[in-house]
Amino acid sequence: MSQYDFLSSLGIQDVNPGAYDGTWIDTTGPELRPINPATGKPLPAVKDANRADYRRVVKAAQQAWLRWRELPAPKRGEYVRRIGEKLRERKDELGQLVSLECGKIYQEGLGEIQECIDIADFAVGLSRQLYGLTIASERPQHHMRETWHPLGVVGIITAFNFPAAVWAWNACVSLVCGNAHVWKPSRKTPLTALAMTRVCAEVLEEDGFGALLGLIVGTDDEVGNAMLTDQRLPLISATGSVRMGRIVAEKVGKRLGRSLLELGGNNALTVLDDADLGLATRAIVFGAVGTAGQRCTTTRRVLVHHKIHDELARRLVDAYGTVKIGDPLDPATLMGPLIDAQAVAQFEAAVEAAKSQGGEVLTGGTAHRAEGDLAGGFYVQPTIIKARADMPIVQEETFAPILYLIPIKGVNEAIRIQNDVPQGLSSAIFTRNVRHAERFLSAVGSDCGIANVNIGTSGAEIGGAFGGEKETGGGRESGSDSWKAYMRRQTSTVNWGTELPLAQGIQFGE
Ligand code: NAD
Repeated sequence: MSQYDFLSSLGIQDVNPGAYDGTWIDTTGPELRPINPATGKPLPAVKDANRADYRRVVKAAQQAWLRWRELPAPKRGEYVRRIGEKLRERKDELGQLVSLECGKIYQEGLGEIQECIDIADFAVGLSRQLYGLTIASERPQHHMRETWHPLGVVGIITAFNFPAAVWAWNACVSLVCGNAHVWKPSRKTPLTALAMTRVCAEVLEEDGFGALLGLIVGTDDEVGNAMLTDQRLPLISATGSVRMGRIVAEKVGKRLGRSLLELGGNNALTVLDDADLGLATRAIVFGAVGTAGQRCTTTRRVLVHHKIHDELARRLVDAYGTVKIGDPLDPATLMGPLIDAQAVAQFEAAVEAAKSQGGEVLTGGTAHRAEGDLAGGFYVQPTIIKARADMPIVQEETFAPILYLIPIKGVNEAIRIQNDVPQGLSSAIFTRNVRHAERFLSAVGSDCGIANVNIGTSGAEIGGAFGGEKETGGGRESGSDSWKAYMRRQTSTVNWGTELPLAQGIQFGE
C-alpha cells in the first residue's frame, strides 16, 4: 500500500464505510474491492450499503433539504464557492486518485478535477441568475410571472469514466438550485466518490448541511433499484450506458418521475478534402486515444474524403506509433489501461467482428502486453480499422480505443452516414469551406447534441449545455440553461384589481 500513501490524506482507509448521510455510516455489507486497472491489483475496499442504509441517507437528505431550500440562492452559492476552493486545495491528490482508480493519465485526472472546480465557479455565478420571466397578461390589472423552485432530493447515478466530474456537474448546479442529493457512484470507482464527498461535504458539515451530499455505495439491485422506484426522488440524473438508460427511463417513467439521461455516443469526425490535415490529425488522436477511448465523446468514426484517405491514414498510423502506453501516473504515458478485463475482452471481440465484417486493421488490433508491476493491467493497443459505414459493429459504441476510418465522397454523404447510427452525442467537421461548415451546423446537418467545426468531438467546456439526442438520452447538463432540469417551474398570475375577468373572455354567470 505504500505507493498509495496519499490516499490516507483523502480519508481513504484500507476498508471504508459505504454510505454518508452527514456522518459516515458504518455499513455492514460485503466488501467491494475496486481493482487498479494499471496493475490488476486490489485497491482499498468499501463495505456495501443496503436498503436500510439507503433509507437513512434519503431521510437525512430530505431533512437537510427542508432548511436548504429556504436559504436565498446566492447564499447557497457561497457554500458552493467554498466547495470550489476545497477542490482547488486538494486538486493534486484527487486527480491522482481519479487516475489510480479509473486508469486515465494523470493530466486527464487533474483535468477532471479542474472541471469540477470550473462547474463550481459557474454555479456560484448561476446562483444569482436563476431567472424567471414576466409575461404580459391579457387581463387588465393582472400580471404573470414564472418562478423556479427547488425540486427536493435528486438522485445522481454516475459512470466509471468520469468518477468525479459527472457528479460535480450535477451536484454543484443542483445545490445552488436548492436541492439535496443521493449519489450512487459506479462500483468500479467508489473511492473517488468517497474522497469527493469527504472533501466537499466538509464545507457543508460546518452548518449541519452535510446530508445534502448523501452517498450510497451498493449494488444496482439493492440501492440502484431503490432509487429508481423511490417517489421521494423527483429527479434521477443518470450517466452511463444505453442499456442502463433504458432501465432508468422505464422505472422512473413508471412512477412519473423525471429522468435526465446522459448515455453512450458513437461520435463521428468528418474530414473534407480542403481540411487542415495537421489540425485534423491532432484532434483525431486526442479524441480517439485520449482516456484510452473511454469517453462518451471519444471519436469512434472518421469519415474522410476519399481523395485524402490514404494521406490521413498514413499520418494517423504514424501518430499512433508514438503513443506511449503504460502506467497512467507516469508523465510520459499518453494512454493508460482500460477499466477491467471485461473491457479488454470487448475490445478484442469488436476487432474480430470488424475483421469478419470486412474491416482491415491498419494499426493495433490486439491487447498490449505490459511488463513488471504493470503485467496484470488491462492494456490494449490503440487501433485503426479501415471500415465501411454499413458494417454492424460500426453502429455500436465499443468503449475502447478503436477508430473506424470510412471513406466518403463529400459533405452530404458524410452527414448522412454520421447521422445513420442510433446514438447522437458529439460530432465534428474539419473544413475550410464555410458553406460546408454551416451546412453541417444547420437543421439538415448533424443530428447530435454537440456539433463542432475544426475542433474534435471530445473535451467539451462546462459553459455549454452538454448532452445528446436519440439513444444518448436527450439530457443536458452543465452550462447554459441546463439548471432548469433541477428546478420546478411555477407560473403565477396575480390580480391586483377589483374585478375577476376570466381568460379567453369567458362569461360565467351574471
Ligand atoms: P454503466 O451503464 O455500466 O453504469 C453506469 C452507472 O449506472 C453505474 O453507477 C451503474 O452502477 C449504474 N447502473 C447500471 N444498471 C443500473 C440499474 N439497473 N439500476 C440502477 N443503476 C444502474 O456504464 P459505465 O460502464 O460505468 O460507463 C460507460 C458508459 O457511460 C458508456 O456508454 C459512456 O458513453 C457512458 N457515458 C456517457 C456520458 C454522457 O455524458 N453522455 C458520460 C460518461 C459516460
